[in-house]
Order: sequence, then C-alpha cells, then structure tokens
Amino acid sequence: MRVGLFGMITSLRSIACLAALGCGAAPSSSSTVAPVTTTHVVVTPLGNDVYAAVRTEPLGLAVNSNSVFIVNDDHVVVVDAQFTRAATLETLAALRRITRKPVRFVINSHPHFDHASGLQAAVAEGATILTHRNNEPVLERFLSGPRTLTGDSLAKVTNRRNDVVQGIGDRDVRRGTNNKVVELHHVPNEHSDGMLVVHLPAEKVLWSADVTVVNPNPTQLATLRAVHTATSRFDYTAFIPAHPPNPDRPLTKADVTSAVGN
Ligand SMILES: [Zn+2]
Repeated sequence: MRVGLFGMITSLRSIACLAALGCGAAPSSSSTVAPVTTTHVVVTPLGNDVYAAVRTEPLGLAVNSNSVFIVNDDHVVVVDAQFTRAATLETLAALRRITRKPVRFVINSHPHFDHASGLQAAVAEGATILTHRNNEPVLERFLSGPRTLTGDSLAKVTNRRNDVVQGIGDRDVRRGTNNKVVELHHVPNEHSDGMLVVHLPAEKVLWSADVTVVNPNPTQLATLRAVHTATSRFDYTAFIPAHPPNPDRPLTKADVTSAVGN
C-alpha cells in the first residue's frame, strides 16, 4: 500500500514531536524545522541538529534503509546506508539540502546487502565505516577489493584507502565536536552476529535495523526481544526502525515494550 506524501510528512512530524522536541515545545537548535523532501527521501528534524532521513518508496518495496543524520560542528555522521548505490546517493543528496559538511562516518548496522550495498557511495566521498568488529573482515573485503562494475562509485576513485572500515566493540560512545553524544551498542541476536543499534541520549532517539514492532512473526519477535533486552534501560521516546511498519506510523518505546510482551 502506498502511503500518501501528506500522510508520510504528518507521520514524520509526529516523529519530531516524539523526539527531544516534545509537541508544542520550543524549537530545537536545528537550523531547519520543516521537513525537507527530495527524491525518495524526507528529512525531518529530531532536535539538536539530528535528522531522520526516511525513504518514501512504496512500503511493500521498503528494502532501502531509513537513515539518521547527526550534524556536528565540522562533519556529519550518517546512520546506515541503503540497498543500492543509487539510493544512498539519494540519501546523501538529501543531506546536502541540510548541510555541506563532509560525511566523516557512516555507521553500518550490520553487513546485510540492504544496509551495506550503498556504503560505496559514502566511502567514495571519503567516509569511514563504523561497524561492529564482527563485521569488519567482510566489509573490509567488500570495500577494499576490486570494483569492476560500470557505474560503481569506488571504481572511479584513484588511490583508494585500504582502511575504510573501523571495527568497534560491544559498546562505543562517540562525542562529537559539539559534544553531541552517539552511543553504539551491539545486540546479540540470531539475525546478524554484528548488529549495532544507535542511541542518541540527548535527543531520546533509538534507531535499529531489522526490528519489526508491529505484528512481528516468531522469528522477528526473537530479534525484537534481543533489541529490547539490550536497550530496555535506555531513555528514549522515538523508536526509528530502518524499515518502517506497514502502514507506517511513529513508534515509541511503549510500542517496543508492548510488542515484546505479546
Ligand atoms: Zn538484516
């Protein structure tokens, strides 16, 4: 089912309200308050120069991952890449409507193709990939090896770096140049042995890949329970899934907690 653009924007505005802003609260320090819509992406402020970059493909084709932009003083951290190079280029183009600051890091949630295939586009622009140490070897091979397909972003780069992947441990807290805090947490689960979730404590946002909160089947419920177990102590208001529920709607910690109990 195709969700109308108006409905999508309304939903995303609700996400912004659910995050640090609070509905009706004072505007955040984000320079742009209204959502920005580009090809296949709507960018919505979550407060404090953090933005949700949500894909607008029909939900039945929602294999491209939703991203988050974390804008620091001199660089940007992007959460996750997409299924295709073209989709990640669209996500990066949407970022350019917000800021021209360079993307220094892309956080890779796990190395499945729908979250990793587009990494090449960001690496070609100079980004380093942050991922769990379990994913480092496969992504290093993927991003440092020969690139022979026509149109491949890295095939056009001369003097390619061979250190584009930085593996991290089970918990990593990054503090940006403007003191913005980004927490990365490993979630042991059966879907991927290197899955990271991203917690933004100031903005009260939790982002996770491949978690089904609405009507999960038993396999999906196992992954959801794993994420909930690893994050239940976190103080978050907005839960942003890489792949949206169908029909899409804003999700909260209460939604996650209630789904685990079902
Ligand atoms: Zn996956």
